[in-house]
Order: sequence, then structure tokens, then C-alpha cells
Amino acid sequence: MHVTHALPLASMTTLGIGGPASVVAELHDPADFPDFAALAATRPGPPVTLGEGSNVLAADAGCTPTVLRMATKGVRVAGAAPDDGLLLEVQGGHPLGDLVALTIAEGLTGMEMLTGIPGTTGATPVQNVGAYGQEVADTLRHVTAWDWQQGRRVTLDAAACRLGHRTSLFKHTRRWTLLTLTFALRRSALSAPVSYGAVAAELGVPRGTRVPLAEAARAVLTVRRGKGMVLDPDAPDRRSVGSVFLSPEVTPAQATALRAHGAPVNRFPDGSTRVSAGWLIQHSGFTLGTPLAQGVRVSTLHPTLVADEGATATAFAQAVTHVRTHVLHHTGVRLTSEIDYLGDWTE
Ligand SMILES: Cc1cc2nc3c(=O)[nH]c(=O)nc-3n(C[C@H](O)[C@H](O)[C@H](O)COP(=O)(O)OP(=O)(O)OC[C@H]3O[C@@H](n4cnc5c(N)ncnc54)[C@H](O)[C@@H]3O)c2cc1C
Repeated sequence: MHVTHALPLASMTTLGIGGPASVVAELHDPADFPDFAALAATRPGPPVTLGEGSNVLAADAGCTPTVLRMATKGVRVAGAAPDDGLLLEVQGGHPLGDLVALTIAEGLTGMEMLTGIPGTTGATPVQNVGAYGQEVADTLRHVTAWDWQQGRRVTLDAAACRLGHRTSLFKHTRRWTLLTLTFALRRSALSAPVSYGAVAAELGVPRGTRVPLAEAARAVLTVRRGKGMVLDPDAPDRRSVGSVFLSPEVTPAQATALRAHGAPVNRFPDGSTRVSAGWLIQHSGFTLGTPLAQGVRVSTLHPTLVADEGATATAFAQAVTHVRTHVLHHTGVRLTSEIDYLGDWTE
């Protein structure tokens, strides 16, 4: 375990925003977790768990609670799963991208559409990470977590994790630190049926087709790159947190009205009907590249918010509010932020 003091959160988040964290403990070896728990016990409140900082807006004032950066890595076969599949137990700090690449190389289906999503595997249940028709809820079997309220390690099966559309038991709480995650993957040379039009078009196949796993992942990556949804250190829109807003749920009447205006309205695995947040943002007059607040603008590739030189957490939060207000005014649909506000926010 590596402990540092007054480390800027900006260096630990993909937006490159955030003031100093009082104490940061980086955990590489799972065996060191008891030492970390002992350190955390000497400080007030539960710690803030951080992965790669790709879904957080860290406060300008920094973070008083201890920050635990999960950097534990490793994947092991934990048993057999149905359909000649495997159970994989993954350490919480393991990069999701590496896990997805491993499953593809091993001929396992279930995660190929999640290619290109940044972050650690331990963060994936927090908002039930998903894209292009797959989500973590499809494959997660159980997790082990440290419960800071009970002061002990617990095992929670997938049902107990209450995974919903970009939400779970773990969203908006510091009660648990996810330590290991066990996924059930099926053996197959072919991907899940391609359900998204853009991915099907990139592959040149009709929707519903199953293609070799690596081909599906390549197509997803191409589509994501076109939208700036892959972290690229050389891209102008690289300081990103991805989508910023959830695709909002709409009523049947709203869905009909929005479809009449050409909005993409889709059914999601949880049974909800949702409209694309990006479409709402563009339809409300925010063109690509529009400046929103100091150092914050709409991406040049996709209707989401990105940061530039001079951006602060306060300015980014103001931009989020500004976009929400305008979208509500123009479309009658309320946007909800997907990102987690981390650290010492005053209000
Ligand atoms: C370019 C880009 C594209 C993206 N595309 C997608 C997408 O397609 N689909 C999607 O769902 N998301 C997407 N995201 C969002 C983000 O990548 C995911 O939410 C990811 O799971 C965050 O992982 P992280 O390790 O960076 O978590 P962090 O940002 O470090 O943390 C996110 C939240 O999880 C908590 N947390 C982190 N690790 C743990 C742990 N071990 N135990 C308990 N709590 C923890 C943190 O406290 C925080 O509240 C995208 C982000 C970017 C920048």
C-alpha cells in the first residue's frame, strides 16, 4: 500500500479536475487491505473509493476523507458456468479493458460490447456499466466487498447488488468498497446478437446477427471513437467523463411525441423506455463545440460535456445545471447526471 498526502484529485480523474486529497492510499496487493482498514479507522467517516476517476467530478476544495485508490489486479478461474462457460473472479482494481480483451481472447461471450469503456472492474457494478446492448448485470454473479458500516467483509450475490439502469445498491453511498467480482461467461466464438444500428452498419450486417467476438469489439471501438467515447490522450476532447447524463426515462405519451420529432427512443433491459440524452441536448440548441462555462464546452464529436484548460469543478457543475435547465425548458424532459460528485462540495 502506498500512502501520499495532499495529492491533487485532478491527477486521478479523467476530467483533470479536483483539489487536493488529504490522504490517498493506493492499494496494489489485496493482502494489504487490513492495513488500509486500520488506517481508515483512524480518520473520520468511511473512505472514498476511487478507480480510474472516469465517472467523477472531484471538488475544487479537494477531499477530506481518506481516498482509497483501487489498483489491485488479477483474474482467476473460479469454477465452471453453464454452457461450457467459466466463472472468473476479478480483483477490483483490474482495468475493465484488460478484462474484456481477455474474455475475447479466451473465446468467452458476455462482455465484448463493453470494449472501450474506461475504468476499473470494481467500479462496474456501481452504475451497472453498459453499452451497445450489454451491461454488467448480464454476467455478474457475486461480489465481495468491505462493509464500512459493519466493519467486515461481505459477499453479495447479483440480486443483492440491485443492478438497474446505470444504478445499483452502491450508487451514491460510501458504505461498501468492492474488492472482488465474479462473472459467469459463456464459451462462444460468436458475439451476442448485434442490437445497435450503428454497430451493425459498421459490420455491414443486419441487426440481430452474431459475429466473431473480436469483430464485434472492433466495430464497437470504431463507433465509440467516432463519438469521442474512447479515452485518447491525443484527442482534443480527451478530458471527458463519458456521457455525463443518463438517458432519461419517458412516459408513453412523451415517447410518441419525441419519436415524431425523430428522437431515438429505445427499450432498455430493465423494461424502461428512454430517450437519448445526446439527442435532447442537441435538439435544445447546444451544437457540437459550444462553450458552456469557463473551460467547459460541448464535445466536438458528441453532445456531451468535456473540459479544457482553466476548467474547474464549479464551472463544470454550472455547465451541467445550465444544460439541464435548457433541456427541460425546450423539451419538457428532465436530465439526470450520471457522474458522481466526489469530495468536499459545500451545498
Ligand atoms: C470516454 C468515456 C466513455 C465512457 N463510456 C461509458 C459507457 O459506455 N458506459 C458506461 O456505463 N460508462 C461509461 N463511462 C463511465 C465510466 O467509465 C464508468 O462508470 C466506469 O465504471 C468508471 O470506472 P472508474 O474506475 O473510473 O470509477 P471512478 O470514476 O473512479 O468511480 C466511479 C464511482 O464508483 C465508485 N467506485 C469506484 N471503484 C469502486 C470500488 N472498488 N468499490 C466501490 N465503489 C467504487 C467511486 O466512489 C465513484 O462513486 C465512460 C467514461 C468515459 C470517460
